[in-house]
Amino acid sequence: MSRKKVLAANWKMYKTPDQARHFFHDFLTLVHGHDRDEIVVCPNYLALDVSIPAAKGSNVAIGAQNVHWEKEGAFTGEISTSMLLAIGVTHVIIGHSERRQYFGETDDTVNLKLKAALEAGLIPIVCVGEVLEEREAGLTDDVLRRQSLRAFHKVSAKKAASLIVAYEPVWAIGTGKTATPQMAADAHAIIRGQAAESFGQEFADQLRILYGGSVKPENAHTLMSEKEIDGALVGGASLDPKSFAAIVKY
Ligand code: PEP
Repeated sequence: MSRKKVLAANWKMYKTPDQARHFFHDFLTLVHGHDRDEIVVCPNYLALDVSIPAAKGSNVAIGAQNVHWEKEGAFTGEISTSMLLAIGVTHVIIGHSERRQYFGETDDTVNLKLKAALEAGLIPIVCVGEVLEEREAGLTDDVLRRQSLRAFHKVSAKKAASLIVAYEPVWAIGTGKTATPQMAADAHAIIRGQAAESFGQEFADQLRILYGGSVKPENAHTLMSEKEIDGALVGGASLDPKSFAAIVKY
């Protein structure tokens, strides 16, 4: 089963609109014509507005880093699916570990956000992953199974067709520590197994599961050569156009 890889950038809370414009000026030239993989860049909310016209007509799609599950309402500081769609956003990261860790995101809110994104026609990138204590306690399988099961709760295979999952071991995010391809493959197999239980084997065989956690130009080739790894979600190394282009071209 061959799955087209997705190389996605998570810029987190970095880059002003001007810096985003400069990034695209350089990055689009570097990846021009690259159609082996799908490329997605997820800027902060304020940089979306310059990133979308900058990437228009190119091989780079633009995603948001979060979304609220309600259509509209008294939710100060939040952004809805229709607001993202209105400006041309196509993808959205849901349940990133930093949101779980610092902003109270739970398996239940991940599920609500996933359902809202799919309903609206946004392509969700749902993040799951264990913290170091859970890995050391031998709980990685349980955590991944629970996070996936609860994210997929009451979502139909038909609705979930565009779903992308990112396995991001929390101990590898921004730390310079990377899971070995075998560790990632084992984790991806657990997530794929849960997807098979929730959505059926055919769906699971086609599901793209990205690896995230200190992916860099130097380790991208090795990681991307593992057949269970269907791409990468890249934080720090995606901020520099040359570095992210090198990852895209692994
Ligand atoms: C991320 O933010 O999703 C991530 C994987 O960060 P980094 O690549 O910096 O570890």
